[in-house]
Amino acid sequence: MLPEGSTIGILGGGQLGWMLSLAAKELGYHCHIFAPEENPPAMQAAAHHTRAGFDNIDKLKTFAKSVDVITYEFENIPVEPLCAIKDICAIHPSLKSLEICQHRLKEKNFVKDLKKLTTPFAEARIINHLPPIFNIELPAFVKTLRMGYDGKGQFVLREREDRKKVPEKLGKGPWIAEVAVDFFQEFAVVVARDKNGNTRCFDAIATYHEGGILRKAKIPSGLHPEFETYAQQTAAEIAEELKHVGVLTVEFFLLRNINGAEDNDGTNASKRVLVNEIAPRVHNSGHLTREICDTDQFKQHIQAICGWSLGDTTRTKNAKMVNLLGDEVKKWEKPPDDPNINVTIYGKGEARPGRKMGHVVWTQPISR
Ligand code: AMP
Repeated sequence: MLPEGSTIGILGGGQLGWMLSLAAKELGYHCHIFAPEENPPAMQAAAHHTRAGFDNIDKLKTFAKSVDVITYEFENIPVEPLCAIKDICAIHPSLKSLEICQHRLKEKNFVKDLKKLTTPFAEARIINHLPPIFNIELPAFVKTLRMGYDGKGQFVLREREDRKKVPEKLGKGPWIAEVAVDFFQEFAVVVARDKNGNTRCFDAIATYHEGGILRKAKIPSGLHPEFETYAQQTAAEIAEELKHVGVLTVEFFLLRNINGAEDNDGTNASKRVLVNEIAPRVHNSGHLTREICDTDQFKQHIQAICGWSLGDTTRTKNAKMVNLLGDEVKKWEKPPDDPNINVTIYGKGEARPGRKMGHVVWTQPISR
């Protein structure tokens, strides 16, 4: 177990890094942020900042020598430069988790090899300067292999002719195309795995996206327990297969039932619960665990990477969360006089349209 007063190095300095730093502080650790921005939000709670690009090996080496463990708060970090520091300081979760989860094709094949379902997919690239061919049923989501988040790096292909627009919209490829599935519900499972291989899941969280960005999250998910249990087992298997240490989030689609039968009936979980995406980290959908769980996702991650045993994820309340995008944050500048509403503002400054500026959580007692 990392002794009190040790320093956790965090790659990335956004709101996830900030909330990880707050949790680390409560557990007696300091944080050192490695991020290219001048004044990253995470610095509101962290002790040190190295301002450098993720490909700056000299700066990465100095950083690695100055901290006791390294973690990351987002997955779009090049793996190669990190290989140069992995023998200087332990990195949790491992580079295997990072490498698979930052590349949509590797991620899909990984899930397939685990014998779990994902959305049907196909790879496409430009050959001989011709428009790419997508061997897949339409409509389909075409996505860049890397750097996809908050709906970025995606384009919906509605008819064959649209394929000509793909290079202009998404760069030169290659890309992955996925069948646009008709889901009943999107949801996420946040799981943690410790250094001894124990795993613990939070309850499933129902998620609602707009334009590819998470807008709302709700717990309990309202899903039939068969679906929830199957998804939790899948998330734990994924964490185990990756030998992941720390928190990991799996986003799922629950497909509609066949022949118009009741969608939420708990049947055929293994055929209807599809893995959409894996994030090797704490996740926006799990923010509400801060208000309602004994150990929230941020503390759980810090505990796991610092060699503690995992905390209790029991939920003491119901909750829903709404993200504050761009200007919406202005409506919440004055905290509401209601103990059941908790506003978190990330201190990012400029409220650009669509930028995640904060979130609000409403809590409610669990009715028995
Ligand atoms: P992603 O970043 O790939 O998770 O995509 C963001 C959001 O776009 C998802 O949460 C879904 O709401 C939607 N989406 C992405 N891929 C698909 C798909 N294959 N079928 C239906 N909706 C999708």
